[in-house]
Amino acid sequence: MLIMHPEHDTDRPVLAAIIGERRTLLMDAGNSPAHAALFREELARRGCRQPDMLILTHWHWDHTFGLSSWKSPAIAHEETAKVLESLTGLNWGEEGLEKLVKSGTISEESAEHIRLEYGEAREVTVVKPDIVFTGSLTVDLGGVVCEVVHVGGDHSPDSCVLYVKEDKVLFLGDALGPAVYGGPRQYSSTGFLRLLDIAYRYDADWYVESHGLPMTRQEFREDLAPWERLARIVDVFGHNRERVVLELKTYLQLEELPGDLLQGVEYFMAGAKRR
Ligand SMILES: [Zn+2]
Repeated sequence: MLIMHPEHDTDRPVLAAIIGERRTLLMDAGNSPAHAALFREELARRGCRQPDMLILTHWHWDHTFGLSSWKSPAIAHEETAKVLESLTGLNWGEEGLEKLVKSGTISEESAEHIRLEYGEAREVTVVKPDIVFTGSLTVDLGGVVCEVVHVGGDHSPDSCVLYVKEDKVLFLGDALGPAVYGGPRQYSSTGFLRLLDIAYRYDADWYVESHGLPMTRQEFREDLAPWERLARIVDVFGHNRERVVLELKTYLQLEELPGDLLQGVEYFMAGAKRR
C-alpha cells in the first residue's frame, strides 16, 4: 500500500494505492491532473503497479477533479455520480466559480483553493464515474480485499469509507468532517455519533482521514474522545451553548477550551439549531 500525504495549501487530500497480487486500487483521484500525476510518478518511481481501477470517497472537488487524468475506470456511489454528472460541462472561470459559491454548491474556501491549484487560466474537466454502486462493494485485488461502504453523514451525504481487511486500515475520507457547503460549517450530534460508532466497530489498526496523517487505533480514539464527549453533551443540552462549554470544560478539566474544540462547539451549535 502506498499513501501520499495531504497537502493543505491547495487542499490536496490523501491518495492511496492499495496493491494486491493482481490489481491495484486507487483511493480518490486527486484535486487536479497535476496532483494525480505526482502520485503516478511516485508509483512508477517505486516500481508499483499503476491503478487498474479507482474509487471515490465522495464527490467534493479535491477528491475527484483529478479523475480526467486517470485511464482506469472509476467506481463511485450513485449519489457521488449524480453530483459529478451535474458538475460536468460547467464554467470554472471566475464567473462560474462565483456562481457556484453563491448557490452554495461549493464554499468560498473551496473556490480559493481551486484558484490556487489551477491558476488563472484554468481548465477544469469534471468527469463522471464509470461504475456506480449503492450500499457497499467488495473488491478483491488478489490477496488483498477492500470493502467500500456508503456511510453518509454531515460532511457529504454520499460519503463512503474504505476498509482494507488484510492491512486493517480504515480510510474514512472526510466522513467525520462537518458539513462545509450550503451554509455555515455544522455538525449534528446524532449524525456524528453514528459515524464514530461505525468507525470504532471496524477492527482497524490504522485510521486514515483524508486531510490528516494516519493514526493508530489508540491515537484515533484519543484524538476523537473530546469530540465524542462534545457530541454527547450537545445531544443532551442542545443549543444551550454556555452549558455545553461548561460541561466540556469540566469533563476535560480545563479552564479554557482549545481553539479547535471551541470552533467545534460552534459547528455543533449550528447543527443543533437546525433540528
Ligand atoms: Zn470533502
